[in-house]
Amino acid sequence: MTPSAVLHRHLHQAPTLALSGEGSYISLEDGRRILDATGGAAVSCLGHNNEHVKQAMIDQINQLSYCHTAYFSTKPFEELASLLIESTGGKMSRVYIVGSGSEAMEAAMKLARQFYLEKRNPEPQRTKFIARNQSYHGITIGSLSMGGHKFRRELFEPILLPNVSHVSPCNPYRNRKDSESDADYVARLVDELDAEFQRLGPETVCAFVAEPVVGAAMGCVPSVPGYFKAMKAVCEKYGALFILDEVMSGMGRCGTLHAWQQEDVVPDMQTIGKGLGGGYAPVAGLLIGDRVIKTLEESTGSFRHGHTYQGHPVSCAAALAVQKAIQKDNLVENVREMGIVLEEELRKRLSDHPHVGDIRGKGLFWGIEFVRDKTNKEPFDPKSQLAFRIQDKGLEAKHSISLYGGQGTADGVSGDHILLAPPYNSTREEIVRIAELVQGVVEDVFGELD
Ligand code: PLP
Repeated sequence: MTPSAVLHRHLHQAPTLALSGEGSYISLEDGRRILDATGGAAVSCLGHNNEHVKQAMIDQINQLSYCHTAYFSTKPFEELASLLIESTGGKMSRVYIVGSGSEAMEAAMKLARQFYLEKRNPEPQRTKFIARNQSYHGITIGSLSMGGHKFRRELFEPILLPNVSHVSPCNPYRNRKDSESDADYVARLVDELDAEFQRLGPETVCAFVAEPVVGAAMGCVPSVPGYFKAMKAVCEKYGALFILDEVMSGMGRCGTLHAWQQEDVVPDMQTIGKGLGGGYAPVAGLLIGDRVIKTLEESTGSFRHGHTYQGHPVSCAAALAVQKAIQKDNLVENVREMGIVLEEELRKRLSDHPHVGDIRGKGLFWGIEFVRDKTNKEPFDPKSQLAFRIQDKGLEAKHSISLYGGQGTADGVSGDHILLAPPYNSTREEIVRIAELVQGVVEDVFGELD
């Protein structure tokens, strides 16, 4: 076993070496050439080996490889921050850059707390957060506490934060009653959130946090129209902050640069990650709106926080080059166009499959949920590890496609999905090929099971 073998699967099974990447493909040591249909974990938005991004990183290393942004700023950081603010139409006003989505969520939580302490009329009693079941916001203690995914939380439950509670997510496939319209469903979820504020004491809540499209925990579940507007209204009613976690669903993945732009429901703060740097560097961020920034400006004037690698110059240069490439080549438009192709191809090939319960998503962010029985949506026994079997089958030489399997889709423990998140510059041929390969993998896995 290799000394790097720490994670659950690698403890027992030596990891395969990935040697190189080109466009949508990754080449492995044993000769397999894998179509990377998930961009890792919805990260590689430009595909692999992009010359412009590599050159921008090399230029930055030659210029200045590191400085602490507590003392200095740098050109790529400033340029990236301006580009990001501009991309929100000025609806966000400041940018904090970190190395991972989890760090971005930790920063959001701490800044929310500091905001209430620094208000002209401070509200030190605001210490609680409301998030949603079946969500994922990161793996560090604070961000894992925010997440509502039972399987990811269970081992660590006794050391998670006690001041985070969870309400139902918006998941029409699993939770909407047949008799309910979108508006009825939203009204029910509003009532639930309102009741949670009341239960906790509305004056004790810092923020409500949600993913615009739930990624890793449920497999690309968008909310019904009007949901976020209604959730934000509840936050406003009680003076709490409204925070969106766009680490997975943002930066173009869903067909607009920021997922909230689809219904123009502007958050007070927003985390971003994966598609920001496209995997060329570990980079994520927190975009902060005026309400929070103005309060800090009028008080201590700085966020009491900091990481050694915050605003790292090479990460910023990489992210800037990725974002410029997205703009220059109109890739968000390609995401919308190719998203339509992906949806059509998946539905055509898989809708009638007896174990495909739901196909859902937005842009180039699609999930397929598998069920034992389509009529009652009964999931497979979690012991069968179905999602991981599908993922493993995809990697076999016959298929050579990388799929992102997830378990706990239905209730945090049972339920299986795979997630697809191909690069924004995917061609129609590549998208069709992904759908063909997914169909082949699904048929093979269930052929072996049934
Ligand atoms: N938030 C969301 C919505 C995510 O999907 C993830 C990662 O999958 C994170 C936060 C955590 O990001 P990271 O793995 O970079 O810490």
